[in-house]
Amino acid sequence: MAKIIDGKQIAQEIKDELKEKIKELKSSGCVPGLTVVIVGEDPASQIYVRMKTKASQELGINSETIALPAGTSQTRLLELVDKLNNDDSVHGMLVQLPLPDQIDEDVIINSISPEKDVDGFHPLNRGRLVAAEDTFVPCTPLGIQEMLIRSNFDPNGKHVVIVGRSKIVGMPLAIMLAQKKAGANATVTLCHTGTKDISHFTKQADILVAAVGRPEVIKGDMLKEGAVVIDVGVNRVNAPEMEKGYRIVGDVEFESASKRAAAISPVPGGVGPMTIAMLLSNTVKAASNFCASSSTG
Ligand code: NAP
Repeated sequence: MAKIIDGKQIAQEIKDELKEKIKELKSSGCVPGLTVVIVGEDPASQIYVRMKTKASQELGINSETIALPAGTSQTRLLELVDKLNNDDSVHGMLVQLPLPDQIDEDVIINSISPEKDVDGFHPLNRGRLVAAEDTFVPCTPLGIQEMLIRSNFDPNGKHVVIVGRSKIVGMPLAIMLAQKKAGANATVTLCHTGTKDISHFTKQADILVAAVGRPEVIKGDMLKEGAVVIDVGVNRVNAPEMEKGYRIVGDVEFESASKRAAAISPVPGGVGPMTIAMLLSNTVKAASNFCASSSTG
């Protein structure tokens, strides 16, 4: 059976390290601040926002959630982002996606100051990532890279196959892992709905990352014996036998995959906690950058 890559435990290690950094920052008068904005009442978004706020408060980050009604106009949201951009106590901010239909997500993301963009979604930060410059990298791919390194599955020299090319997971991860850098330097194949015969590629993967958003589409017989499998998917499937009527599964069929893989990240308890830990890490980075520049400037 495959070794379990325990994202919860690795995330805790990272949070313990961040706690120390936050203590140091505070002792020099710099209190990291994170503001999370949510518009509407999407239940999944509400859960994610609560988790982010709780985790940042536990670390001593000055954290605030601003909840706006579903009918909020784009102009009103832009005004709020502008206010937060100009608030020196807010070092990091994010607007939880998805947004209601009347609001253009790209317009909002583009209005966030790149220096406070702890989600790493601003086009300037995306461009810096492509240029291999220091930047805010989106939290989920950053968490996947960190998880691989910390579990001694360094992508260096490996063939990494990623299924899914979204702007927030698959595409930035492909860019990161292909770079000539420590913890990267992999040969990367990126699969998507235009890929003919996905299993032809997945069977060649030393490291397989599934970021598809389809329940259990990656089966054990699609893997190479001894592969390392990172399951990003969070899918709700009907489960009438359970009290809540559903259960959460990944994009990988855990039972068959864990018989073939050398190691696998579970859902839940894998990539999810790592994503949150990286948000906290990006917030600490934003605060350090701000406080360093204001003390020298
Ligand atoms: P997304 O934006 O819907 O992108 C899905 C990608 O998968 C697309 O590139 C799509 O291809 C590809 N795809 C869909 N069906 C496919 C198929 N049958 N064969 C091959 N490729 C297929 O999703 P996302 O935002 O990247 O999220 C992916 C999953 O990860 C979701 O379950 C999401 O909930 C989860 N997630 C988890 C975390 C976490 O922290 N745990 C964070 C983010 C996302 P095309 O581009 O060709 O359409």
